[in-house]
Amino acid sequence: MRTTILSLASFALLALGSAARAQQADTLNTRQQHIVTIAAATALGDIGNLKTSLVRGLDGGMTVNEIKELLVHAYAYCGFPRSLRALQTFMDVLDDRKAQGITDTAGREVSPVDDPRDKYTRGAELLEKLSGTPKDAPKTGYAAFAPIIEQYLKEHLFCDIFERDLLTWQERELATVSILTALGEGVEPMLKSHAAISLRQGITEGALCQMTKIVNGLKNGDPFARGMLMRDNPNFTDKAWLQGYVAPEDGFDCSVSSVTFAPGCRNSWHSHRGGQILLCTSGKGYYQEKGQPIRLLLPGDVVKIAPDVIHWHGAAPDSKFTHIAIGTQTDKGGVTWMEPVTDEEYSGFEGE
Ligand code: MN
Repeated sequence: MRTTILSLASFALLALGSAARAQQADTLNTRQQHIVTIAAATALGDIGNLKTSLVRGLDGGMTVNEIKELLVHAYAYCGFPRSLRALQTFMDVLDDRKAQGITDTAGREVSPVDDPRDKYTRGAELLEKLSGTPKDAPKTGYAAFAPIIEQYLKEHLFCDIFERDLLTWQERELATVSILTALGEGVEPMLKSHAAISLRQGITEGALCQMTKIVNGLKNGDPFARGMLMRDNPNFTDKAWLQGYVAPEDGFDCSVSSVTFAPGCRNSWHSHRGGQILLCTSGKGYYQEKGQPIRLLLPGDVVKIAPDVIHWHGAAPDSKFTHIAIGTQTDKGGVTWMEPVTDEEYSGFEGE
């Protein structure tokens, strides 16, 4: 079952109208990506990816208290066992970092709430603002069938938890749709309603699609299949996503990153002063050295590009393509970009 969030999000957009669409970025920012991966890895019980995501979140500036809040929030959607395991994992990560001499920022504590009204009233009001559904609408479905759960949702989830200001409502919704996407089959009605609330809270359809990609990457066991859309990069003909893992400044005399090309997208002719190695991980791609025929690239293929050899790489016309790019001997220098690959050059693939 692979319900796309796109269709759910489209449905919600139609239902909400354009007024609800704030001027928001069409991609997730770095902090939002950390929230998605931490929440999804928590729901999946994927301790390895959770550790990696927690480290990235801390390195990316999330405070210890914000991450704790995220792991606590998760219990409402994927249960205490997952939430408690995630908190234990977070404790291990913090201990490891302390032993390495890394000082993590605790961050501020939650603000006290000064509201004398009962929790049900406060929770009902918050949910109304969050979802846009009037709080006095007649109770139907599970709320009419089992009123106690509706009371718990209002008093506990939407009052006790949502009133805590360490995460914004938008961040809580993003975490929620990430968890529901990770859970997948069987929770589609909840994913649909939270996708609608997310859009209402200013998360765009594009950002929801990116969330789905990241979570599916985790579920399919390809932790490298993610990245940020590169904006206005003149050396790429179309959309491409980049995720850096090792930078030349890290001191290993190499760089490692994952690049995903949209179908038909390729980079310009270029050369690397210290050479480059490509490890092809998914999809179908092309590689060409100046004066040589185009070579088809498939998952598992390795391309060794000697220093200063002029070449280009990219996706085939009918498939996305992802490779890990290893820049070798980066101390010798970086990339020299040249002219774009013309449509005529790109269409020169003769098959293998
Ligand atoms: Mn290259």
